[in-house]
Amino acid sequence: MKKIVEVLHAQGGHWVGDGFPVRSIFSYDRQAQENSPFLLFDYAGPYNFPPATIPRGVGQHPHRGFETVTIAYEGEVAHRDSTGGGGTIKPGDVQWMTAAGGIIHEEFHSPAYTKTGGPFRMVQLWVNLPQKDKMTKAGYQGLTSDTIPVVALAGGGTARIIAGELDGAKGPARTFSPINLWDVKLKAGSEATLDLPEGHTTLVAVLSGHVTVDATGAGEAEIIRFTREGSGVTIRADGDSQLLVLTGEPLNEPVFGYGPFVMTSEAEIRQAITDFNSGRFGQVAPA
Ligand code: MN
Repeated sequence: MKKIVEVLHAQGGHWVGDGFPVRSIFSYDRQAQENSPFLLFDYAGPYNFPPATIPRGVGQHPHRGFETVTIAYEGEVAHRDSTGGGGTIKPGDVQWMTAAGGIIHEEFHSPAYTKTGGPFRMVQLWVNLPQKDKMTKAGYQGLTSDTIPVVALAGGGTARIIAGELDGAKGPARTFSPINLWDVKLKAGSEATLDLPEGHTTLVAVLSGHVTVDATGAGEAEIIRFTREGSGVTIRADGDSQLLVLTGEPLNEPVFGYGPFVMTSEAEIRQAITDFNSGRFGQVAPA
């Protein structure tokens, strides 16, 4: 079995643009190697937006060197990017955007959600790319909820397999390195034993509810980091709980980051800034 290494807590909250009230539970500026290949985990909401006429969100900005994964639980986000990719993600949907060699995008509340307002809750995860893939072509996978298989867990819970595999169910996301990303729900009082890969970085994020593992508790906006050694975890749900289970093969490469660019050296960061300033990231087509 895997053992708990530590429980990570949100380092306070901040706004991303005017549309995303986030708690950053980890970021590549600390523990970049321990959490590899995962770079950042922002939990947006829960928050209740009033109706509005102008969509809230964050305007055009670049990324290079990794992937951004947005998992929508409540509310809707509309996205457009410089590859021509775009779409609206609704509750249950996942957007897997590969920034790789460079992308510019914008993330706003959808027009329909802007109009009604209401509860908002999302996760944005940044997944690092292996050095050899950092400069490949940017891409976009819009994964709608109907393409995400649901696995029933012994003990009464469910797992939606966004990436990776559980009990023969394969997630629809294409990834550059071996990754599991599962959206797990457990009923109060239930216990789930998950078979997780030996050697993978292993993180269990609690989005709501409370769980106990080996007498250690974790609640909302906390992440349990397990050892890479061992191959399973047993989680007891103290109340109805929603978790995000992340595992990934560590990349074991240097991490140099500067805001929205994450590369393997300072020289590559300087190049990213030069390329962005000279317009080499392309343009978002007008709406
Ligand atoms: Mn972004």
